[in-house]
Amino acid sequence: MGSCFYEKGLKFECQGCNYCCSSEPGYVFLSENDIKRLSDGLSMDRQSFIDTYCRVVDMGAFKMISLLEKDNYDCIFLQEGGCKVYPYRPKQCETYPFWAHVLEDSESWEAEGRSCPGINKGKLYTKKEIEAKLNQRLGNEPVMIL
Ligand code: SF4
Ligand code: SF4
Repeated sequence: MGSCFYEKGLKFECQGCNYCCSSEPGYVFLSENDIKRLSDGLSMDRQSFIDTYCRVVDMGAFKMISLLEKDNYDCIFLQEGGCKVYPYRPKQCETYPFWAHVLEDSESWEAEGRSCPGINKGKLYTKKEIEAKLNQRLGNEPVMIL
């Protein structure tokens, strides 16, 4: 296999700006595992958790389950001091910014850095650590309702 642009690793350290949890409309799509961890963490049953904190998003051929947003587009779990469910936050959040489309090439990585000030700062993640983050999403695909 040819070399990838992050052969020597990539730097990332969250600066706590909360931009990725707020500011503009977006989705945090949930896998079954995410729903289980969140509902267990909040001591709720699956359906109550979905009814209280989630919305069903119509994608056309199928539907997906995303966290709710507040009127100002903050994630429903964003509170003073950060994420209310941080220890059991969804994999989409936990693995950011090491997402497949962000890691497609150096241009995508640099482009993401224009909205995330933690990119190219602080801790150096090795290629192996980056791939481990990518692999965390495998088998954790968002729920798709046909
Ligand atoms: S946008 Fe980047 S720096 Fe800001 S909270 Fe999200 S991960 Fe952290
Ligand atoms: S679940 Fe937590 S980390 Fe994920 S978007 Fe909401 S507030 Fe941010």
